[in-house]
Amino acid sequence: MRVHNFAAGPAALPLEVLERAQSELTDFNGLGMSVMEISHRSKDFVAVASESEALLRELLGVPEGYTVLFLQGGATGQFAAIPMNLTASGASADYLNTGSWSKKAIAEAGKYVQVNVLADEKASNYSTTPAAESISVSPGAAYLHYTANETIGGVEFGYVPETGDVPLVADFSSTIMSRPIDVSKFGLIYAGAQKNLGPSGITVVIVRDDLVGTARPETPSVLDYAAMGGADSMLNTPPTFGWYLLGLNLEWIRDNGGLTGMAERNERKARTLYDAIDTLDFYSNPVEPGSRSWMNVPFLLANADLDKEFLAQADAAGLTNLAGHRSVGGMRASIYNATSQESVEALVDFLKEFERTHA
Ligand SMILES: *Cc1c(COP(=O)(O)O)cnc(C)c1O
Repeated sequence: MRVHNFAAGPAALPLEVLERAQSELTDFNGLGMSVMEISHRSKDFVAVASESEALLRELLGVPEGYTVLFLQGGATGQFAAIPMNLTASGASADYLNTGSWSKKAIAEAGKYVQVNVLADEKASNYSTTPAAESISVSPGAAYLHYTANETIGGVEFGYVPETGDVPLVADFSSTIMSRPIDVSKFGLIYAGAQKNLGPSGITVVIVRDDLVGTARPETPSVLDYAAMGGADSMLNTPPTFGWYLLGLNLEWIRDNGGLTGMAERNERKARTLYDAIDTLDFYSNPVEPGSRSWMNVPFLLANADLDKEFLAQADAAGLTNLAGHRSVGGMRASIYNATSQESVEALVDFLKEFERTHA
């Protein structure tokens, strides 16, 4: 039996993807070996890697002039890799602070660059995004970094910041592939895979070519965009199984309408859940409506003493991983691409029933 899984990451994967991987697990391509047991430089694996890269480029509409990398070290590794690759010693960079992941990115970048925090949403307790017109890049900033979707706070940008000639850098870990984006507006997009792309252990970096080859000399090669290479020129052993599964997941996205299909599906799921939270008296979502995430929906019960019972009953009803992040408490339903409308409706039915019996 498969549960309704609302995990924030590692998160639910489509059943079709898991079943396909299962069917190929012990004998990939008729080789008599699994994809995990072959060389990353073998013709069969290089085909897996380059087909995944091509499909990612196609689905996301990555223009010419961008390099796509599949790395290790997570989004957290990129918090350091970005300043190391994009700046020289003594440089400064602009950051927007919209919550927990922005803060971590800022703290790590501070080891390498002078960080200007252009906007900090502290006054709203990180329930808002800054007004688009309030953002103006600092003179001399090497880039502007923002977190497109705050996975813990459930705050998502409804616009792409304007930075003129200054490269725009964005953490898309929890929103990549959830809807179409205009990649040409960005200097660099990065995302840990375990929310919307595949399993944990692999990280996608999409970087404009003029930002490749400028790393500080002391940058570790595994974090240096120029050294790492793409599908056909890997520096070292990549996470082969994760790369393979990411490719299967991209095929599932393609077969389900691509990013337009994902956007329709995700918009509908989010509307269903926010409508229920707003309509029912017993639940509330703290995020300003214009900044609400399609992917992560935090909510509070009117009586926090019932949190434990809520989670226990939800679990018993097959609705799992609804506890909010340990830093904020409350509840959170993560409803990434792989979560179905049916799962969201099962959650809404449960919210109604819990309110009826406990309010
Ligand atoms: C999960 C997450 C991260 C951290 O990813 P790791 O792969 O664990 O390093 C960073 N940023 C955002 C927005 C996330 O959701």
